[in-house]
Amino acid sequence: DPIPNIRNFSIVAHIDHGKSTLADRLIQSTGGLSEREMTEQVLDSMDIEKERGITIKAQTVRLTYPAKDGKTYILNLMDTPGHVDFAYEVSRSLAACEGSLLVVDASQGVEAQTLANVYHALDANHEIVPVLNKIDLPAAEPDRVKEQIEEVIGLDASNAVMISAKTGIGIPDVLEAIVTRLPPPKGDINAPLKALLVDSWYDAYLGVVVLVRIFDGTLKKDQRVRMVGTDAVYQVDRIGTFTPKMVSADVLGPGEVGFLTASIKEVADTRVGDTITDERRGTTDPLPGFKPAQPVVFCGLFPVDAAQFDDLRNAMGKLRLNDASFSYEMESSAALGFGFRCGFLGLLHLEIIQERLSREFDLDLIATAPSVVYTIKMRDGSEVSLHNPADLPDVMQIEEIHEPWIRATILTPDEYLGGILKLCQDRRGTQIDLNYVGKRAMVVYDLPLNEVVFDFYDRLKSISKGYASFDYAITDMRAGDLVKMQILVNEEPVDALSMLVHRGRAESRGRAMCEKLKELIPNHLFKIPIQAAIGGKVIARETISALRKDVTAKCYGGDVSRKRKLLDKQKEGKKRMRQFGKVEIPQEAFIAALKME
Ligand code: GDP
Ligand code: MG
Repeated sequence: DPIPNIRNFSIVAHIDHGKSTLADRLIQSTGGLSEREMTEQVLDSMDIEKERGITIKAQTVRLTYPAKDGKTYILNLMDTPGHVDFAYEVSRSLAACEGSLLVVDASQGVEAQTLANVYHALDANHEIVPVLNKIDLPAAEPDRVKEQIEEVIGLDASNAVMISAKTGIGIPDVLEAIVTRLPPPKGDINAPLKALLVDSWYDAYLGVVVLVRIFDGTLKKDQRVRMVGTDAVYQVDRIGTFTPKMVSADVLGPGEVGFLTASIKEVADTRVGDTITDERRGTTDPLPGFKPAQPVVFCGLFPVDAAQFDDLRNAMGKLRLNDASFSYEMESSAALGFGFRCGFLGLLHLEIIQERLSREFDLDLIATAPSVVYTIKMRDGSEVSLHNPADLPDVMQIEEIHEPWIRATILTPDEYLGGILKLCQDRRGTQIDLNYVGKRAMVVYDLPLNEVVFDFYDRLKSISKGYASFDYAITDMRAGDLVKMQILVNEEPVDALSMLVHRGRAESRGRAMCEKLKELIPNHLFKIPIQAAIGGKVIARETISALRKDVTAKCYGGDVSRKRKLLDKQKEGKKRMRQFGKVEIPQEAFIAALKME
């Protein structure tokens, strides 16, 4: 049965088109928070999110809205993570709603993430209300953007709501549109409890907090519930809603969105997408099976100062408490010492974790080159999943190496198109489509993720002066002509620098790497060969010449204090060196060699 007084909706948008500003306006205009409590952008709770303007964890707000029809409605706004790395979380948040507001910046128009996000909403069978934001800007072209929405997405935009989330124009129209144009949820209050686990996070006071959407039945305090996927049973301590403050409730019914706590120890015990039901009277019809988060990008993280290893381990434990999709295990590298091999949902996720480790935990880290997960098909018919190029099995035993491919959608102003096509082509891309969306070109490419993980996004931004937008999804695994390239310093392989590369790109990559290392490794008292090799065959080589004079000779023997200073400086420099056989390699050399392209 429909529950007529509830509307559950999300806001989908490209980054910076005004999702958070609109959310704040809706909260403010329905009185969810007092003026004083209305800190800027309530929905973006973590600092890093605020700075980068992205939302990582789904949040929700329950608004009470007295509509023009004289009835009072409950509006549940589900905020969704704003990035492709969190696609599964996005799909679960959307599964908890019946409709979406599609926010498009009227001065920018449709962008890559506008498309990606609206397709997710359409996949979730949402009713969609187009909203044109920033109409206060002189550059706004609402008519052109309406046309774009109709042409590119195929949505009727004639009734698009025109707003300025910044000045408040059109906000009452948005609220009315939510009530009149989005469908109410449906559910059976007498059926066994069936709720979707939308999200969960760790709270220092409450333990794990679980965000749920009730489909059928009721959720009550003290009820014993079962997680269908993990088969774990918990007794509910507390339930309630977010206004956005946490407010306790006695019962949540069909169509409602709220939280529960139940003395759950770790976020990892709560799987996003799982079905929650009654322990004894379980639903016979759980929600479509959930997907455990699969890390797709791996890299090694090592403390610059070996003494920080325990601090790093503790910090990772704390991050993992709140982020079950981040994984780590101990790794040791001859070059970098003890550290961890870490798995991430994607590049942005990697960057966020790295940044939190250095910012919140004050750790100085070296990250090895990000690597994708390869599937190695062995001659004996077995399969190995490879997270670290250094662990590649003996090539004689390998039949084929399979690598993940993505389908990337890029929107760009016309003048940068040439450079972007060349970039995609250089990265082994296959063009799938090239179209125009208004004045912007839309290119679709299939690319190996291996060629994207490193600096593709940075290159794209620099080629397009920041104007191109990019979105991708992993599509499949394909066999690739990949080889392991090793870097040898003074005839010894340096494990942290080995990588899998496409055979056709190995030589240029190897040469560039050797040249870079030659610049970065200081002269020693002996000659140091630097080589790039594939399976014992050297494909590039540089030599660092031997040092002739003692450095202190420069001081002409006279000035003792100056001599001392110079020696101290050398000592200081040593701390940031890694001894490798007889050779000392500065920390910066690793970072620079890995960053290079
Ligand atoms: P989000 O990334 O979609 O959450 O976007 P935000 O809500 O953070 O907004 C991005 C930027 O656009 C911020 O600087 C906002 O102040 C600005 N902004 C949002 N809405 C409007 C609007 O209606 N008019 C103008 N001029 N600026 C806006
Ligand atoms: Mg935002």
